Amino acid sequence: MTRKHRKRWIKNIAGQQIKRLFELAESISEARPPMADRYVHIARRIGMRHRVRIPAHLKRRMCKHCGKYLVPGRTCRVRLNGTCVVVTCLACGKQTRYPYHHDRNHTPNKERE
Ligand SMILES: [Zn+2]
Repeated sequence: MTRKHRKRWIKNIAGQQIKRLFELAESISEARPPMADRYVHIARRIGMRHRVRIPAHLKRRMCKHCGKYLVPGRTCRVRLNGTCVVVTCLACGKQTRYPYHHDRNHTPNKERE
């Protein structure tokens, strides 16, 4: 029981560290980009070690192929192709797609039964 409790506590701390590391990466990305990549790398490792998910909004700030910290307009290119956001990493040239929902227009998808 105590052990379970402790595990949760550690995961909580790990989650906070990940958030903090991304904040640090954000603050240093302009002055020292390699340092930001390093922070992202550490955050990723903490996530793996403690099996903590990196929150979706933070995951979008890193390249899942090369682990680079992504800054739109500087280290990555962001484009919309109708149904997804396409993020191209300028370091490795690979693309990551995220679906997005738009509320203004209804999607032309077939209606589900
Ligand atoms: Zn990359």
